[in-house]
Amino acid sequence: MHLPDLHPGLLQGIGMTSQRTRNRMVERLAYQGIRDQRVLEVMTRAPRHLFLDEALSHRAYEDTSLPIGHGQTLSRPWIVARMSELVVQAEPTRVLEIGTGSGYQTLILSRLVEELWSVERINALHRRAGERLRLLEAGNVQLRLADGGHGWPEAVPFDVILLTACASEMPMPLLAQLADGGVMIAPVADKGGRQWLVRVRRNGNQFERERLEPVRFVPLLEGVIR
Ligand code: SAH
Repeated sequence: MHLPDLHPGLLQGIGMTSQRTRNRMVERLAYQGIRDQRVLEVMTRAPRHLFLDEALSHRAYEDTSLPIGHGQTLSRPWIVARMSELVVQAEPTRVLEIGTGSGYQTLILSRLVEELWSVERINALHRRAGERLRLLEAGNVQLRLADGGHGWPEAVPFDVILLTACASEMPMPLLAQLADGGVMIAPVADKGGRQWLVRVRRNGNQFERERLEPVRFVPLLEGVIR
């Protein structure tokens, strides 16, 4: 267990991790164009500082991505908010996330949708995220250690599939796990290696693809690290 006992002070945070600092982060997100009130509300309450190592927790509410070990990063608050907004817009019930990482995006989603499945390929991250999400009583989340490229076949279909790592090409096996009318939201690299946030909507066996904004994510990798 990496987290100290959860007492109210730790959960709330103090100084750089206080509610006031969190409010300022959310004001900044609104200023930067995040409109969805549910997303802003959930991010106001979510203790992002608990998803980082203690040495970095004082930076939790800065507008920046931060390392979570194993060469991976917790995305900056704006991108978490933006992706959450895109998920909420699809009005989903069942959501699959690929790339649990620290579990912060997972926590935000768990408070916005009914049922959530999240897959991570690095065991140490998967386990620590599980501890945090249990502590924060995210009861509607199921986590799995696996290569997310295969999705979660036992729980199909999903209304939304969200990738938090960048695919080098459109991940077809995941598109097949979408419900009719469902959407996949994913960073995908173009031929020049530039990354774009892409939204793909399924209509029957047709997939309609929309390119949103340029982004920067760690790559989607194959296999499991135990
Ligand atoms: N959403 C995360 C950000 C994590 S960074 C957060 O809030 O912290 C992306 C994560 O995707 C990393 O943890 C990485 O290990 C994971 N990942 C990369 N390829 C994957 C794959 N094929 N299956 C599952 N997880 C993968």
